[in-house]
Amino acid sequence: MLSFNENGIYCAQADVYIDPWKRVDNALITHAHADHARWGMKHYVAHKDSVPVMKLRLGGNIKIRGVAYGEVFSVNGVNISFHPAGHIIGSAQIRLEYKGEVWVVSGDYKIEDDGLTEVFEPVKCHAFITESTFGLPIYQWRPQAEIFADINAWWRENADNGRASLISAYSLGKAQRILYGLDQSIGTVFTHAAVENTNAVLRKQGIALPPTQSAESIGGGRKTEISRSLVLAPPSAISSAWASRFEPFATAVASGWMNLRGGRMRRPADKGFVLSDHADWAGLNLAIKETGAERIFVTHGYSELFARYLREQGYDARPVETQFIGEESDLQASPDVK
Ligand SMILES: [Zn+2]
Ligand SMILES: [Zn+2]
Repeated sequence: MLSFNENGIYCAQADVYIDPWKRVDNALITHAHADHARWGMKHYVAHKDSVPVMKLRLGGNIKIRGVAYGEVFSVNGVNISFHPAGHIIGSAQIRLEYKGEVWVVSGDYKIEDDGLTEVFEPVKCHAFITESTFGLPIYQWRPQAEIFADINAWWRENADNGRASLISAYSLGKAQRILYGLDQSIGTVFTHAAVENTNAVLRKQGIALPPTQSAESIGGGRKTEISRSLVLAPPSAISSAWASRFEPFATAVASGWMNLRGGRMRRPADKGFVLSDHADWAGLNLAIKETGAERIFVTHGYSELFARYLREQGYDARPVETQFIGEESDLQASPDVK
């Protein structure tokens, strides 16, 4: 029912693309990260919680329709619905059903409940198109409570030593996830404008985020507060003159790539925390098993290796070329990161 062409993942029967990377008429969007939600489509359909952020990023005049999880709509006989992917707020797996055959496109997904994002829902299907950002057995996440305990301990230690704590975080997803796990009794949480603009849009749609203060408003006379603060900012800001207002400070990166000792790090940081919005090895395998699918298509990440492993487990699995990027996508292509 779905095929892969130069524009993206295509359903010919409904004439729709899922997360297309070239300009097409009809796009179904799994989530608002820059490598999945691109500019230039005539019509977009996304989960309703993705709509305000997509307008922020792609422009207020895009033609977009928001749908709820589980709401079914029909296009030329194809029944289409969106289901929670647990990756970021509004993220969805997209289910397409035609004449009894069911395909599901996962987009990016995470199994662990982060308390902020609608929890991942396994969807039964015949064919499953899965991501594989962390599709190697070395990727195993510790429970997030332990990671947040580490982050808060690092913050507290910095605060007690008179230096601010700067964490690199994508403006959509990781920033809110970290914010949600912080112990606000330690100090003030400041945000870069890219993060604060996204927070503002999410708060406006009723999502209860813990309090933050825009770092752009920092004036003189707040030395002690700044030295005890935690700052959420895109990596490009942390490595630029923008960060000098917080000196002295320590820096950290929170990413699944921290699982490899500095292996995929873009810039050196004082500290690395292994925290990802993608499924780890066990999560990917569990998700695939729960779909009951026999045919598996593996996209961005370790697609060749992971597809081969799945074939050894008896699946009809193959890798697929896409232009999805993985955990770093938001760092590279987002227009709001300056
Ligand atoms: Zn994503
Ligand atoms: Zn992705």
